[in-house]
Amino acid sequence: MTRTVPISELATHEVENQPEPRSGDISLWDGDAVLHAEVARAGADASALGAAGAAFGTAQARFDAEEARRDPPRLVPFDRAGRRIDEVHYNPGYHAIMALGLGHGYAAAAWDEGGNARPGGHATHAALSYMLSQVEPGACCPMTMTYAGVPALAADAGLAAQWRAPLLSRSYDPAVAPVAAKSGATIGMAMTEKQGGSDVRANTTRAVRDGDAYRLTGHKWFCSAPMSDAFLTLAQAEGGLSCFLVPRWLEGGRNRIHLQRLKDKLGNRANASTEIEYNGALAFRLGDEGAGVKTIIEMVHHTRLDTAVAPAGLMRAALSEATWWVAGRSAFQRRLIDQPLMRAVMADLALEWESALALAMGAARAFDDDSESGRAFARIAVALAKYLNNKRAPAMIYEALEALGGMGYVEETPMPMLYREAPLNGIWEGSGNVICLDILRTLARAPLSVETLRAQLDAVRGVDARYDAALAAHFDRWPALPPEAEARWYAESLAHLLAASFLIEGAPAAVADGYVATRVAGHRGATIGAVAGLDFDAILARVGVTGG
Ligand SMILES: Cc1cc2nc3c(=O)[nH]c(=O)nc-3n(C[C@H](O)[C@H](O)[C@H](O)COP(=O)(O)OP(=O)(O)OC[C@H]3O[C@@H](n4cnc5c(N)ncnc54)[C@H](O)[C@@H]3O)c2cc1C
Repeated sequence: MTRTVPISELATHEVENQPEPRSGDISLWDGDAVLHAEVARAGADASALGAAGAAFGTAQARFDAEEARRDPPRLVPFDRAGRRIDEVHYNPGYHAIMALGLGHGYAAAAWDEGGNARPGGHATHAALSYMLSQVEPGACCPMTMTYAGVPALAADAGLAAQWRAPLLSRSYDPAVAPVAAKSGATIGMAMTEKQGGSDVRANTTRAVRDGDAYRLTGHKWFCSAPMSDAFLTLAQAEGGLSCFLVPRWLEGGRNRIHLQRLKDKLGNRANASTEIEYNGALAFRLGDEGAGVKTIIEMVHHTRLDTAVAPAGLMRAALSEATWWVAGRSAFQRRLIDQPLMRAVMADLALEWESALALAMGAARAFDDDSESGRAFARIAVALAKYLNNKRAPAMIYEALEALGGMGYVEETPMPMLYREAPLNGIWEGSGNVICLDILRTLARAPLSVETLRAQLDAVRGVDARYDAALAAHFDRWPALPPEAEARWYAESLAHLLAASFLIEGAPAAVADGYVATRVAGHRGATIGAVAGLDFDAILARVGVTGG
């Protein structure tokens, strides 16, 4: 396509040394050799991912995503007559991204019609989540919850029969209508209340029997994607904290779910997050009374996979912009990418991204192993990946932003959006401390998680003496589980070892060597780019950014 170029010769000066924006259609799949390798290793669906990566990276998709953020969701609590409608109106760009993601199987790819995992399905899903979070991370939230809601439905055959097919339909249908009248549905999650988010047992929403169903009364303090067709909700029933499916729309009317206000958030702007009240809302029990946490944990476990993989997507997006910029911009008569210090920074950023992706995809492979040991490994691996990837994402994205100099601080680039998004996946589905305590709990209570983790860490011994020494030092330092106050240090150390083990197994030697030298053996300062002596060329060759 011929481009009508802007005028560079201005009255007072000529515009030069400004890299063009990465414009046009840029496949998120084609240029990402690291993703290709991870997908092949996991037996995921490369051809579906190729099509999705091309579609997610079009100029139109990026435009829709920007529109969805620029014109954020708006609460419409009443109609003009003053009757409650409790709706949220979105920019058409949001609907376009939802249709795009669901259409390419974001919520459906992992599952067959019976709600069982497809071979390589979770890895396929994780790769979709990784690619779409590079474009519009906010809209990923409802799609992630829909993917993750599917296994929780197994607790009730009747609800599964009614809801599974619409959740897996790949059709986005935003109509305000009961599920039976829709071509597709999405599902959200309502756990957090004012008095306690991490401590869900403090929930005060009450559930009272009403025939075969229940009526819920109470509030939820954070409830994202409020136009979802149902929410899995925790509430106190007679038999204790229980899980309920609360439909948003009923035959002939609206359920009594009132949207109080929208949260004014740091980022995640395209996605609405609300405070809601249940005012005698009709609800159906999912699982036994008193088994609420056990039931909803299935959903939380699967949303955690996305909170582990999304930071890798955000890092990839930031790195693509940064490497593009430093390859096109010069300072002091030399391209930035050719200057030794910038090269070191870019290589260090690339190691953050590649290791984050390897760690998350290692967890996704475990989700695809439906054996008892696979499930035990998935539980610990996803928690370690969620912790480490999210702790690293904000610092990594900030450094990528700084590589653009002042331009990185400007909203016409994706950097401010990525930076605002960076802390979120660390917070929901278990904030940092809570995840670390969960890691200790899992290792204390699930011997098979300990065994499978140890087997993975031991599998690569003998390849790199620095890794072997660090592994031995970890278990010398902590022959038993650490005291709570050391849980972060312990989790960080284990997560670095796990990431290193995946890289030693699957990445080129230069990448594994770089990671072990800097993150495991400690030959690096605390800030990004404080490294030397690595094979920067080989590490940077992995980035393979295209565009323009
Ligand atoms: C944008 C956004 C969207 C959200 N969407 C939803 C949604 O759709 N549905 C939903 O249910 N929730 C949602 N949440 C809520 C989110 O899951 C909670 O905010 C999160 O679980 C933390 O709960 P809290 O805010 O009550 O913090 P708290 O539980 O009060 O925790 C505060 C801090 O204390 C730490 N902490 C807690 N316990 C311990 C401990 N024992 N030892 C040491 N430290 C501890 C935590 O790690 C955290 O850092 C959303 C949050 C955000 C920001």
